[in-house]
Amino acid sequence: MSNILGFPRIGKNRELKKALEGFWSGKCSHQELESVAKDLRAKHWNVQKSLDYVCVNDFSLYDNVLDLAYALGCKPARFKHLSGLEGYFAMARGHKEGVACEMTKWFNTNYHYVVPELSIDDEYKADASAIIAQYKEALSLGYKPKIQLIGIFTFLALSKVVKGQREDIFQKVKSAYFDLIEQIATLDSEVVVEFSEPIFVKGFDAGIFGLECSKGGSAIQCIYDNITKKGIKVIVSTFFEHSKELTEILLKTNIYGIGLDFVAGSKNIESLESIAKSDKVLYAGVIDGRNIWVADLESKLALLESIANVIPKNRIVVSSSCSLLHTPFSKEGEDKIDSQILSWLSFAEEKIKEINVLEKLFRGNADSAIQSFLQENKKINAARKNSTKTNDKAVRERVKNYTKTQRAQPFNERIKIQKEHFNFPILPTTTIGSFPQTPELRALRLNYKKGQINKAEYEEGIKEYIRDCVKFQEDIGIDVLVHGEPERNDMVEYFGEQLQGFTFSANAWVQSYGSRCVKPPIIFGDVSRPKPMTLEWSKFAQSLTKKVMKGMLTGPVTILNWSFVRDDLARSAVCEQIALCIADEIDDLQKGGIKIIQVDEAAFKEGYPLRAENIKDYETWALKCFRSATAIAESQTQIHTHMCYSEFNDIIKTIEALDADVISIETARSGNRLLKIFKEVGYKNEVGPGVYDIHSPRIPSVEELKTQIKALLEVLPKEQLWINPDCGLKTRKWEEVKPSLKNIVEAVQSVRGSL
Ligand code: GLN
Ligand code: ZN
Repeated sequence: MSNILGFPRIGKNRELKKALEGFWSGKCSHQELESVAKDLRAKHWNVQKSLDYVCVNDFSLYDNVLDLAYALGCKPARFKHLSGLEGYFAMARGHKEGVACEMTKWFNTNYHYVVPELSIDDEYKADASAIIAQYKEALSLGYKPKIQLIGIFTFLALSKVVKGQREDIFQKVKSAYFDLIEQIATLDSEVVVEFSEPIFVKGFDAGIFGLECSKGGSAIQCIYDNITKKGIKVIVSTFFEHSKELTEILLKTNIYGIGLDFVAGSKNIESLESIAKSDKVLYAGVIDGRNIWVADLESKLALLESIANVIPKNRIVVSSSCSLLHTPFSKEGEDKIDSQILSWLSFAEEKIKEINVLEKLFRGNADSAIQSFLQENKKINAARKNSTKTNDKAVRERVKNYTKTQRAQPFNERIKIQKEHFNFPILPTTTIGSFPQTPELRALRLNYKKGQINKAEYEEGIKEYIRDCVKFQEDIGIDVLVHGEPERNDMVEYFGEQLQGFTFSANAWVQSYGSRCVKPPIIFGDVSRPKPMTLEWSKFAQSLTKKVMKGMLTGPVTILNWSFVRDDLARSAVCEQIALCIADEIDDLQKGGIKIIQVDEAAFKEGYPLRAENIKDYETWALKCFRSATAIAESQTQIHTHMCYSEFNDIIKTIEALDADVISIETARSGNRLLKIFKEVGYKNEVGPGVYDIHSPRIPSVEELKTQIKALLEVLPKEQLWINPDCGLKTRKWEEVKPSLKNIVEAVQSVRGSL
């Protein structure tokens, strides 16, 4: 018995991306889009045919949370009159009738879902026709389908209530959800539905309590008992962590099976006794659905055997830990990665093979082909373990002995030295780093990569861009300049490409949202820095101006959180290695005459664990890594950091402990609400709250910027404030950036005059 919770939908060669973008731009018809989608589903089912079932309804034209919202009739009022694909894509991408629904990260992954908007005024009405059609499509191709459906608790917890009380809306959504199940139940005498309830891993913090049953007792129990009564075979799966507390409740229900993640939630082991006592089938998620590494089949088998010591084997299904959505499609055709490193990798297609092999070994049904697969797997894992590619003694030694996590002087002394040294006006102005990435700039980098232009031509192009950036900033009177990051495609990739221990694939794309995919760097081995990564460009930029040029680095935690990280070393240990590379870079920069260095930690918050009990640990090592990276800065070297998300309340103590001299943050969309916490805790270091939202093409006027700056001054003293946009400007156009920044400087000058 073998199972997965979903398969990547974007297609081996991102066929879905191409079809979607073609459809949106009017180059491809609705019919063509549907036919690409149908073709992809058939191909993906074919890959899954060795499993007990193929997954249905894991496919989506945009996002499966949105699909469920749509199937339940949850549509914001502004799009009510739109139907079909028009209404669907309006919610995802916006429409002339109104802005798109918000989008946010799916738990701690890099996948983003569309946030459903719920209102008590809405009439919810279920329509399972799309699910039913896909089910029949799979049947007609001769497959045994299993429907993947987002559980009602997860759906509700992730939705945004725009009007009314969550509890009241819950009743309405519940009726529609039940109706949806009833429609699905008509398909067959025993339709199998696997409900995804990742919200259950948050335990009693899941935010779903208060949703009581009418007859009292836990809502989880009564909802799932009700669903079971509708004549379907119910599996409820949790993933990304353990779900010990709520697993206990699920075990009291009449569901058929329970799916648990034994990779990210090793504590699920503690639920085995209870599961054994129940009659449930356990879908044991032992193959990692989040990572890209070949499984160590021997140890996976041992894990399954240890589970089987408690639960009878015939009640254990070998499963992936979560949907394979978060892994690339297949290794086939991957020609960019060193062949040995490639042998250590396993993408979605390969993971299904691993599940099959593991299942046969577990049941004692292994023929010689399976046995030799196991032998080969052992060899691969042994080679990986002993490889000089993964183990660099010098790096390990250095990390072990590195103790510098504290700058030489405390902030209050450093800042005196810095203020005297820089002598900036009050409310100094700066930007977050990048300037518009024009088509010409992208072409320049691409042509160089392809060998169509030589190094000298490439460098001249980059220099030209930097000269323009510097001149523009000087002309308008910005205080601290940046070089504009023209040499960077991406803030993590740029560094990864220059570090040992990283590799890059040609085609290992994973969906980030809608048609957008990312190709994260792969950290396979110990990380070190053969040579400076940004020094020459920073020095060149500094040579063009008498003003201070800010050096621009990506922080260790962000590099880690936006990569595929090796699974044979603790994340904290990998992060420390990266931290020392950044420390070396900072040292080279300061020795090279760069006086302000920004260490971006855009993804610091993203790495926060899902369960409260693990937060302390993450904060401790993430903090240590940032500090190991920056402690090398001399007192007069000013360290800036930047974070792009918006809630600081629960992490403010950690932000404080980073001990950056200046932090720029994204507050433009929320007025100065987010800034208040800095005042409340008596935050002493300097802060640059973004004064305008760079995510929108709008150009802020001088007047509104003045109002915004004055609002900031009501929260923090003028000595503590910097003025800047709220994130990098790479996605904007020059026509937007130029007047916006000019207005900022003008607004600041006017406010300065009045102080
Ligand atoms: N320095 C980076 C830039 O300006 C920061 C990007 C980010 O915060 N995501 O592009
Ligand atoms: Zn940002």
